[in-house]
Parts: sequence; C-alpha cells; structure tokens
Amino acid sequence: MENVFQFADELGPSKVIHVYEPSAGLKAVLVVDNVAMGPSIGGVRMALDVSTEECFRLARSMTLKNAAASLPHGGGKVVVFSDPNIPMEKKAVLMRALASSLREINEYIFGPDMGTNEDCMVYIKDEIGRAVGLPREFGGIPLDEIGATGWGVLHSTEVALEFCDLKLEGARLVVQGFGAVGKNAARFLSNRGAILVGVSDSCGAIHNPEGLDVDALIALKDSGKSVIEYPAGDRIDCDCIIDIDCDIWIPAARPDVINEDNVHRLKTKLIVEGANIPITLCAERYLHEKGVICVPDFIANAGGVICAAMEFQRASECTVFQVIEEKLRNNTRLVLTESVSKQVLPREAAMNLALQRIRKAMSYRRWSLFSSAPGFI
Ligand code: NAD
Repeated sequence: MENVFQFADELGPSKVIHVYEPSAGLKAVLVVDNVAMGPSIGGVRMALDVSTEECFRLARSMTLKNAAASLPHGGGKVVVFSDPNIPMEKKAVLMRALASSLREINEYIFGPDMGTNEDCMVYIKDEIGRAVGLPREFGGIPLDEIGATGWGVLHSTEVALEFCDLKLEGARLVVQGFGAVGKNAARFLSNRGAILVGVSDSCGAIHNPEGLDVDALIALKDSGKSVIEYPAGDRIDCDCIIDIDCDIWIPAARPDVINEDNVHRLKTKLIVEGANIPITLCAERYLHEKGVICVPDFIANAGGVICAAMEFQRASECTVFQVIEEKLRNNTRLVLTESVSKQVLPREAAMNLALQRIRKAMSYRRWSLFSSAPGFI
C-alpha cells in the first residue's frame, strides 16, 4: 500500500480511507483533502488503473477548484477500482456498498465523475442521503445532462481568446474525449461559431479540417457508438488527436495526456483544460514559454462543481447557468491578467488565488490558534 504521508503537505489530505467490501466486490479509496472551506465535494470515479496518489491529486484539484470558485466546500475524491463499463445493476451494488461504508464520513459529499452518473448518485442518495448530481425527478440538477462543465468551458474559452487575439467565430477546435464534458463543450462552442475539426474517444479519433457535425457526433455517442463511426472524416489513432492543427485544444478525458514526451506535438494557441490534471506541470511550462495559453483545470472546469454545490443549497437550474457564467468569466480574466502582469504561469496565478482563500479559511479553524502559538512543535 502506498505511503500516503509522502504526498501530504500544509493543506492535507485530512483523511485517506481505503474501503474493502468483498461481498460486493468493492475496492475503493476516498481522499478527503482540505476542508477548511467546508465539507468536501468531489466525484466518484470508476476506473481500473488509478493509484491512491492520483486520487489524492484529483482531490487536491477539487480543493483548489472549490476555493477558486468561492464555494463553501473543500476537496475530495473517491476512486472505485472497477471497470467503468460494467452494467448498471453491478454499479448499483458497488455504489450502495460504497455509500454504506462511508456513511459516517460527513466531510465528503458524493458526486458523479468518470464512470459514474446521475443514476449512480441516486443509489448513494437512497442509501445514505448525501449525494449531489442527482436527476431532476430526485430534486437534483443533472450537471452532465445540462452540460454544466461544458458551459463553464465555453465562458472560460471566450475570455481566454481575448488574451490570444482570437475570435470564437471560425476558431478551429479539437476536443479530446467526447463524454459529458467534451461533447457539451463542443456543443456550446460550436453553437457560438467554433468549428470542430477533431475529436476523440477511447476507441480512436476523427479529423476533418472542414469541420465535423457536433449534433451528429453526439447522436452517435448517445446510440452507444464511438466517434470513429462518423462517416465524413479521417479516422486516426486516439493519440494522434494531439497532432491536429487548431486554435483551441480541449482535453476532456484522462489525466497527464499531455506530458514531456508529447507536448511539442501540439499545434494550438489556446488550451482550456476540461479534464482534471490533463497536462503535467513541465508540459504547461513548455507551452507557456511557447506562448500557448493554458487555462488550468481547476479554473476552467469548475462549472460542474459549482452546479453540484448549488444543488446542495437547493438552487434552481436557471440560476446555475448564470452563476457558472459569472464565476468562470471573472476567474479566467483574473488569472490570465495576473499571469500576464506578473509573468507567471496561469496555473501559478490560479494557485495563488485559491491558496489565498484556503489559508484564510484555515486561519479561522479553532486549532490554528494553538498551532501558531510560540513553542508549538
Ligand atoms: P466521461 O466518462 O463522460 O467521458 C470521458 C470521455 O473520454 C469518453 O468519451 C471516453 O471515451 C474518453 N476517453 C477515455 N480515454 C480516452 C483516451 N485515452 N483518449 C481519448 N478519449 C478518451 O467523463 P467526463 O465526465 O466527461 O469527464 C472527463 C474529464 O473531465 C475527467 O478528467 C473528469 O474528471 C473531468 N471533469 C468532469 C466534470 C463533469 O462535470 N463531468 C467536471 C470537471 C472535470
């Protein structure tokens, strides 16, 4: 088992819990990171190849995201070690067992993530009552269905384009990953004039410099097929999505997809990180030096968690769109302005914004008075 203290720092994680429930076939890990701002909200990811450390990094990303978006929540994440393609009946068993095992951990509010969806949240809600991202019939605001994160990506992209002297109308767009985030980001951006020239999913990628029909691609995915079934384009390897010449490149799939080995292949002017931690820090530095703007994940993809937090507060669906728009536009502008004026990476500017808020919240914690007293070891 990994030594979790090797990645602990001044912010957290506050709890790392491994869950094993053999009768349900459940193996999972929960990382509750910093909770100074409030109980953590973060998704339940179902995957076979995620380490505890990666789960921690994802939880940290939620801490920063929630703080940057000024939400009264800390960051957390669950990884369920399972094939995300198992049938829903099996997922239901895993979700119920997971919820039951973590019933007492009130500092964590369950939400959907890769491999889980609104239905999964209903099972958790039914078991312990503490889940967001529920379907409408259950009083939820279905964040993936309405495309909350994609809506935020749209607004972040619009503001970031001003910093690249580009317009959205006619801008060439590539989207890696065509799930809840990718397809909604593509839909909102193309509705405002962007031209989708490349898209991928786990089966492969499709490229057409003349443009792809986003609605047709969504219909394909909704019918259970891959984007590579799209008839009017070149079928290329999944990984070759990196090589497509474009103006805006949106990662909306897995972590670390852009790294030291492949970053030099990107041919774009702007990257808006729809996925969590899709680009390694070294690769972001390389891009910054090349003049490519990267809007960091915890700024650009905060739409989903803003929606989840608002659902938790029982807000209405239409106010969610307004709030995401306002927060994402303000934060993107704040971060990119700071990045330009202080000549730092956008991620550094975003970290400063989030850390300032978290440290302030931590200073109000009861025990911080004791730990800052003279003589405290
Ligand atoms: P999803 O499961 O709905 O979709 C993931 C997509 O990525 C699928 O189309 C899948 O085929 C594709 N994919 C998987 N591996 C791939 C690969 N190697 N190359 C290309 N495509 C690949 O997941 P999602 O909810 O859209 O989340 C995507 C990313 O965005 C994740 O990093 C998630 O943590 C992050 N995120 C999601 C939300 C949200 O609201 N759903 C919010 C913030 C961040």
